[in-house]
Amino acid sequence: MHIDPAVYVRNTIRSVPDWPRPGVTFRDITPVLQDPRSFRVLIDLFVYRYMRQRLDLVAGVDARGFILGSVLAYELNLGFVPVRKKGKLPFRTVAEEYSLEYGNATVEMHTDSVRPGQRVLLIDDLIATGGTMVAASKLLQRLGANVVEAAAIIDLPELGGSQALRETGLDIYTVCS
Ligand code: AMP
Repeated sequence: MHIDPAVYVRNTIRSVPDWPRPGVTFRDITPVLQDPRSFRVLIDLFVYRYMRQRLDLVAGVDARGFILGSVLAYELNLGFVPVRKKGKLPFRTVAEEYSLEYGNATVEMHTDSVRPGQRVLLIDDLIATGGTMVAASKLLQRLGANVVEAAAIIDLPELGGSQALRETGLDIYTVCS
C-alpha cells in the first residue's frame, strides 16, 4: 500500500449530506467494513496502538462500536463487553442518561461486566459532541473500571467533543477527522 493507512480509511468513509436530518452530514463506515483492505488496515491501526498496552477488556458502544470492539478484543486476546442502548440487556444493569441535540438518551451495562480495577479500552465509530463517550466512560467508572483510552475512527473536532472529553481527563485516540 503506497498510501497512508489512516488516509486510506478516511477515503473509504462515505459522507451522506442531510441525513438523518437536514444540516447533518452522516459519516457512514459501512464502506470501510465492506472493503476488506480498509477494514483490515483500520483494525491493524488499533491493534498496533494497543498490543503493547496492559488492557483487560474492550467496551464497545452500541452499535458500530460492537463491530470494531469485538474484532479488536479478539485480536488483542481480550474480552468484550457491550455498552447498550436502554432496555436491551437482560440482567442487572447500571444506566447513565445523557443529552442529545433533541431530548435524552440512556446507555446501560451489566453490573457484572467489569470488575473493579480492570483496565478498559472504550471504542465507538465516531466522536461528535462527545456525549455518548462521556456517558459510557461514566458507566465504566461507576463499575470501578480504569478507562485507559477512548478510541474512535472519526473525530468531528468542530463539534468540540474530543476536546471536552480530554478536559474530563480521558485520553482519546482517533484515526482521522
Ligand atoms: P456524540 O455523542 O454526539 O459524540 O455522538 C456520537 C454517537 O452518535 C456515535 O455513536 C456515532 O455513531 C453517532 N453519530 C453522531 N454524529 C454522527 C455523524 N455525523 N455521522 C455518523 N454517526 C454519528
